[in-house]
Amino acid sequence: MDRAPALTVHVPASYAAEREYIVRVMLEEFLGLRVEVAVADVSHTAITVAGDDRRLVLADGLFSTVPEAWLTERSLPTGPLALFELGKTPFAAHPARALPVLYGTVAWRRDDTTLELGVDVLGGAFYLLSRYEELVVADRDEHERFPASANVTVREGLAQRPLVNEYLELLWLALRTQWPSLSRRQLVFSFVPSHDVDWPLAAERTLGRVIRRAAGDVVRNHDPAVAARRIVGHAARLAGRRDADVNNTFDAIMDASERHGLRSAFYFIAGRRAGAIDGDYSLDDPWIRALLRRIHRRGHEIGLHASYTTQLDPDQTRLERETLSRVLEAEGIEQPRLGSRQHFLRWRNPQTWRNCEEAGLDYDTTVGFADTVGFRAGTCLEYPVFDLERRRQLRLRELPLIAMDVALLDRVGADHDEATQTLAGLRATCERYGGTFTLLWHNSRLVHAAERRIYTEALGD
Ligand SMILES: [Zn+2]
Repeated sequence: MDRAPALTVHVPASYAAEREYIVRVMLEEFLGLRVEVAVADVSHTAITVAGDDRRLVLADGLFSTVPEAWLTERSLPTGPLALFELGKTPFAAHPARALPVLYGTVAWRRDDTTLELGVDVLGGAFYLLSRYEELVVADRDEHERFPASANVTVREGLAQRPLVNEYLELLWLALRTQWPSLSRRQLVFSFVPSHDVDWPLAAERTLGRVIRRAAGDVVRNHDPAVAARRIVGHAARLAGRRDADVNNTFDAIMDASERHGLRSAFYFIAGRRAGAIDGDYSLDDPWIRALLRRIHRRGHEIGLHASYTTQLDPDQTRLERETLSRVLEAEGIEQPRLGSRQHFLRWRNPQTWRNCEEAGLDYDTTVGFADTVGFRAGTCLEYPVFDLERRRQLRLRELPLIAMDVALLDRVGADHDEATQTLAGLRATCERYGGTFTLLWHNSRLVHAAERRIYTEALGD
């Protein structure tokens, strides 16, 4: 590795912090190359190796935005996006046949020393990873979330395309065209089943509600066995026993993960300032404490499910992180890092990332679509995040969420085969690019046989 040539990336002087961030994420973090960033009097980014006259020139798109248009509508890509056909180029080995171009052009040119790429791979990747458009476009849904339909990539039918990974592969093929001896870091696929613990036990508190719900099990879900279990579980709870509750699927989740050699992550609510919408359990409940110990003993992960009103509240985020840390310490649970996911995926750019960082969390895993499935940040790779307002990289890392049960089953409207195929396709895409397939499946969505089957098939049953 020491003998691998160091690349010098000459960048224009504008947007220095943003350029350095994206160069380091793409070339160092993702490709594992040695890189020096040098600010130069150039109009496009140029990559060179000392003592070698070959160059790779990358078009300047997003970062050629005039300062007064930065973070405004004028700097956003507009559809329909041009497609860079890769077939008859030196990049034909790319996994995609054609690349949608967010910034730049489909042009390319090559002579004895220089390869020029019209696609602005760095600007496009920066735009997606930093969630640039979410700071520009004001659309919000009923939970004040950025709706999928406000994403240019979703509108272009690209929700399930990890464009950052696709740009990364193009960049790599271009680098290899110029310097065939370069070698990259091997990215390894992983699958993280994750579980936001909103309702560890069924929410129904009165017999009337239990019976109404049980009727729904029979009529809507054609699942009388669940109706019976629901009533038995309720009676057991009245007698002080909660293990029979229909939502208590935690051991089944861990069994399934362990069967496939996977490690589940469970995110727990540690503050209920918003009341009923924040679930109905306490981390001081002995049943919950026993569950935490069991999750840890079996080798799975525990994280924070930051409550409904935390997205813009650093103090509440910190309070909840401290509460969870205190509980874990009291239970003798030590983990190499502590991550979180926002309840309802309520996430605001860049305050929520900043809150998580300031609260002492190591990673966030919220950035996924609430109303469709796919790659909201354009990638399946974990990455260090950038604060667009303070213009600096944070220590916090983002593990993008790729698919959530609620969005898949309720919004995408998929039946069993469709849901299974969608998840298999997303998983295969993450595998192709050596990323992480982060799937969110609530413990309360494993009650009916049909939901359970979709989940366990996604795991590989
Ligand atoms: Zn939640």
